[in-house]
Amino acid sequence: MFNLDNLLRDNIRALVPYSSARDEFKGEASVFIDANENSLGSPLSKWYNRYPDPHQLKVKEALSKIKGIGPEHILLGNGSDECIDLVFRAFCVPGKDNVIINPPTYGMYEVSAHINDIEIRRATLLDDFQLDLVHLENLVDEHTKLIWICSPNNPTANSMNRQDIEIILNNFSGLVVIDEAYINFSRHRSFIQELSDYPNLVVLQTFSKAWGLAGLRVGMAFASQAIIEVLNKVKPPYNISQSTQELVLKALEEVEQVNEMIRTLVELREQLAVDLAALPMVRRVYPSDANFLLVKTDDARGIYDHLLNAGIVVRDRSKVELCAGCLRITVGTEKENEALVDTMSRWGKV
Ligand SMILES: *Cc1c(COP(=O)(O)O)cnc(C)c1O
Repeated sequence: MFNLDNLLRDNIRALVPYSSARDEFKGEASVFIDANENSLGSPLSKWYNRYPDPHQLKVKEALSKIKGIGPEHILLGNGSDECIDLVFRAFCVPGKDNVIINPPTYGMYEVSAHINDIEIRRATLLDDFQLDLVHLENLVDEHTKLIWICSPNNPTANSMNRQDIEIILNNFSGLVVIDEAYINFSRHRSFIQELSDYPNLVVLQTFSKAWGLAGLRVGMAFASQAIIEVLNKVKPPYNISQSTQELVLKALEEVEQVNEMIRTLVELREQLAVDLAALPMVRRVYPSDANFLLVKTDDARGIYDHLLNAGIVVRDRSKVELCAGCLRITVGTEKENEALVDTMSRWGKV
């Protein structure tokens, strides 16, 4: 029932991708005068006068060892946000196709849909923040190309039930995109290892959260080789800069340090959840599989302003569906968390 070719936009199926100088000549040579680079060098050291590897092979090979999946199943984007946009552009016909999101969720799916003139259909999460499969199924029609699932979800912080996701993967003939930006903070397994079972699965991850590299702008998409080949055709050839590729390669040697940070952040999260729950104006701290907490309060705006007065910025999510009264609070350092709790405890006191 899943047919990648049918799912593709006609113009993308027919697309002849840009062929770079480095695509056309890949061997060893002593003189490279084929790409109109500056042959004299650059004001910076190293080889920044040269275009970077458009396929980021070294990075993908290092990633492949860590993730346990071949480089041909990996696409790198300028942040996950580029991966999100690429999926829309490859599969959704503007003004005709639609996609389904499960709000409250990450805002970029909707923004990217609007930029690409794709209709958004909303299957609001159930009260326990899980997927509403009945509603979801009712929204699907022959123009539904993508279902976006964020797990662990931003801003609700929970993971979606694995069985629910499997039901969708088994029954939907479009693509199911699972955004796992926060997976490293979760007890649940990634869907990456499931790729061989589901030709319609795309998994997104990022260097922006657990890896601590939001400033570099690198996101990852994992999917079948066929899907990755399509996204490769659509992406700008040099979307990951030389310096970024070098820095990511270095970071990938530090898995142990990153794992240590993840363990620490999870400990800090659990402590912060306990401390916040003890405050009188906190009605509920939702369980979190991420590096942030969703906190239901008596007066989100009042507490937000009170914190801001003390120089502490959190995210007011109280206008978001199912999130009335809620603040979204990123786990800080031990000191930052203490300052937060201390400041909140003084709210409403003169
Ligand atoms: C933070 C976040 C991302 C990361 O986006 P980048 O462009 O990789 O920085 C992706 N998805 C969700 C749900 C997020 O919260």
